[in-house]
Amino acid sequence: MFRRILQTFKCSIFPSKCLACGQFFHPNQDKTTGKTSFYLIAQDPIETIFYRVMTPFLCPTCLTDFSPVHSPFCTKCGRMFESKSCADHECGNCIQSKPVCRKIRSAAIYCGTLKSNIHALKYKNKVHLARPLGRLLFSSFMKYYDIRTVDYIIPIPLHISRLKQRGFNQAVMLINEWPFLIKKFQENRSIDFDCKNLIRKRKTVSQTGLGREKRKENVKGAFVVTDKSKITGKHVLLIDDVYTTGSTSAECAKTLIASGAETVSVLTLARASS
Ligand SMILES: [Zn+2]
Ligand SMILES: [Zn+2]
Repeated sequence: MFRRILQTFKCSIFPSKCLACGQFFHPNQDKTTGKTSFYLIAQDPIETIFYRVMTPFLCPTCLTDFSPVHSPFCTKCGRMFESKSCADHECGNCIQSKPVCRKIRSAAIYCGTLKSNIHALKYKNKVHLARPLGRLLFSSFMKYYDIRTVDYIIPIPLHISRLKQRGFNQAVMLINEWPFLIKKFQENRSIDFDCKNLIRKRKTVSQTGLGREKRKENVKGAFVVTDKSKITGKHVLLIDDVYTTGSTSAECAKTLIASGAETVSVLTLARASS
């Protein structure tokens, strides 16, 4: 009680700085914000989860600048359809090209506040954003995947030189809390989390600014699995912060399947709008 009064007093005297636009604001003191009941993570719409987990960090305007992925979308690659009058179905591209990944899903479109937050996490060292964004990602996991069918979770690896330069892999940070969250939901279910079995053996240039074909070429043969026995026959879920053309995740999936994985799916926080 005393702590709560103190917190309210502190917030009314010292406003917070919005991590997206830089404006000062007084955080919402509503008890339900900033906290996420574990069970609500699975049930509530993604935009509600975003509002709840990001309230301490964003001004009221930036809190609403968020575009969740919504139906109708492709049941394989997750791309949203422009027409709103149909159900989810496989898109023409996926029917034609038979993508290597079984299912690709993202929480939201890479724009607005989420884009600024991902930038702040990766390039401005705002590592405390990894926890709320990781919870947002977990809510998408619960929405789009059956917890009982995923065996192995792998964050998309960075090359050692990039890791040294940044100091952390954002995809690893996003799932730091997941083993604990999964236990909360399904005590008997154990999913392997592995940040070491898939390695980026070749240094690649940044994919930013490269076209689809150049991106494919850039990551070709860049990954290797160190212990194939661990993934044999498993459904592997790849985690990343942003999905752009899918070249990196497709190359990882190819490597994993060639090394014995049965199927590979992808989940990211954000995806490019097209
Ligand atoms: Zn703002
Ligand atoms: Zn598709």
